[in-house]
Amino acid sequence: MKFRNICTIAHVDHGKTTLVDGLLSQAGMFAAHKETVERIMDSGDLEKERGITINAKCASLQYQGTKVNIVDTPGHADFGGEVERIMSMVDGAILLVDAAEGPLPQTRFVLQKAIEKDLRFIVCINKVDRGEVRNSSLIADTENKLFDLFIELGASDEQCDFPVIYACARDGWCCRKVDDVEKLIRGEISGSLEPLFELMMSLPAPQSVEASEPKMMVSHVTYSDFLGALALGRLWSGELRKGKELYCHGEKGVEKFSITSLLTYKGTEEETTDCLEAGDIGLVAGCGGVAIGDTIGEKEETPFPRIEVEEPTMRMIFSINTSPFSGQEGKPLQSRELRQRLVKETFFNPALRLEDTEIPDQFYLYGRGELQFGVFIETLRREGLEFMVGKPGVLTEEDPIAGKTEPFEKMMVDIPEVYTGDVTQLFQQRKGILSHYEVTGESSGDQRVRLTFEIPTRGILGTKSRFLTITRGHGLINSEYIGHRPYAGWIPHRQNGSIIADRAGETTAYALESIQQRGQLFVGESTKVYEGMIIGECNKDTDLNVNGVKQKKLTNVRTTSSDGLTILQGIRQMSLENCMEWIEDNEWIEVTPKNIRLRKKVLPANQRSVRRQE
Ligand code: GDP
Repeated sequence: MKFRNICTIAHVDHGKTTLVDGLLSQAGMFAAHKETVERIMDSGDLEKERGITINAKCASLQYQGTKVNIVDTPGHADFGGEVERIMSMVDGAILLVDAAEGPLPQTRFVLQKAIEKDLRFIVCINKVDRGEVRNSSLIADTENKLFDLFIELGASDEQCDFPVIYACARDGWCCRKVDDVEKLIRGEISGSLEPLFELMMSLPAPQSVEASEPKMMVSHVTYSDFLGALALGRLWSGELRKGKELYCHGEKGVEKFSITSLLTYKGTEEETTDCLEAGDIGLVAGCGGVAIGDTIGEKEETPFPRIEVEEPTMRMIFSINTSPFSGQEGKPLQSRELRQRLVKETFFNPALRLEDTEIPDQFYLYGRGELQFGVFIETLRREGLEFMVGKPGVLTEEDPIAGKTEPFEKMMVDIPEVYTGDVTQLFQQRKGILSHYEVTGESSGDQRVRLTFEIPTRGILGTKSRFLTITRGHGLINSEYIGHRPYAGWIPHRQNGSIIADRAGETTAYALESIQQRGQLFVGESTKVYEGMIIGECNKDTDLNVNGVKQKKLTNVRTTSSDGLTILQGIRQMSLENCMEWIEDNEWIEVTPKNIRLRKKVLPANQRSVRRQE
């Protein structure tokens, strides 16, 4: 059997899912009785909500006797470790770009990794049917920008010589000549995705090493209740058969095991097979202790060099839930269980690391970004668990010459030009230095610009919602770590104190009505609260303890003034991300499957100062 292993690189909404669905159905991978399940590559609720790929997924199709494995790559720098592992399985990439939007900053990071891995590319300019694209220079502009981007990222001559294809993934056609686009849209000629299939065949085939011994690098590990740990990877040489005895070369030594099951992809399904051939991508069951980056092969085999994962730049503290409501809404974890769950995560995600603290109930989790933490917390929540997390912090280092250093990032923002002033001000206050300014063209009538800042990671933390407010939701932001640099000094954080419930009970509209004059409420009426729980943000810079459960005194004297309806003004809904950017070091976020609450670390009001330390 001949193989092609290809990954897809695309920004969210540029049409990757639609294109892969189209390829699979035109290759006849969906059995006649089975309805096409739309949006195959976007499985996972969390991914759908956030619109990003978090874990890589595979699918395969057959074209003229060749099996094509298509792997989806995660689209965010926070998942850097994952991107590199996936890239090591493939030889080529389809770079998919929306004709109207051109390449966006998020694709840059993944594209750079693909260029470094020496992949070959097919550029697919999608959505050429869109109104604003027709009869405009947008397609040519996008092509030029892509070429510039390849050069800028240091692509080789062969890589820059990429074939370009113009597609309407939604209608299932593409063409190689830009002149054909109009004819296809008007239906004068009929089209299909055939040109793309042909180009995929022109990508390099997997280079199998001339060896008969099987050798596989484990790019990912998943878990099945029936089969146990499953190692995903590409077989570089030899063949694997069910029942065969092999060795897993891990970090801690060599483990002997026998293959209990073998799976490959057929369409989007995993299918058991008796034999996995060199060049193919598949899953191996049987080795309990397998970890990402291990090599599976014979005993004497020299293992592949382990994939280097970038060092963490941030950490967050995880704790068992110690609030008075613990156990009411989910499964409260004991410290041993919480630790076990965190260890399991570091096992599947080598970009995360765990460290114990002096307190047995609390653990540090090290990672690379707010998004990575946010996704993980949300995952635990959906598993029905209860726990608490603290304020995310960046990791500073001590350098003998430079003194204290902290992580810096190169951050690119894409915004309509009118917001340039406000956005620049936001990030300059936070020690960002504008290093590049570029007009990128028009989109829906707005002139757009791309600003590049060099900014401490600290300066980016917790700015997302403010950035989106400033740009009315039309801004895009993306950043990548560029190294540690001298500490940039004080960065403004939340100026205001918290409004804290001083006793347990259920909030009343009567009580909240007077509290709302002192700040911004986070909870409405009839919310259960406990002493030490934060129910709002204070107007002043000190904390405020309030009675949020006060009942109106019932009297038989009627007054004209105070009997009106109580009206509560806006309540700010605090999402997990909002909480993560809002809290201070002396506060916790309490996460349960049903609620996200904010609280003080010290609950009793009389043991806590209302002054906020700087
Ligand atoms: P993904 O996030 O990259 O997987 O993007 P999707 O495949 O989910 O597509 C995003 C949206 O773009 C969907 O509403 C598609 O219907 C639409 N879309 C995809 N391809 C095309 C196309 O060729 N032309 C137009 N006009 N819309 C498209």
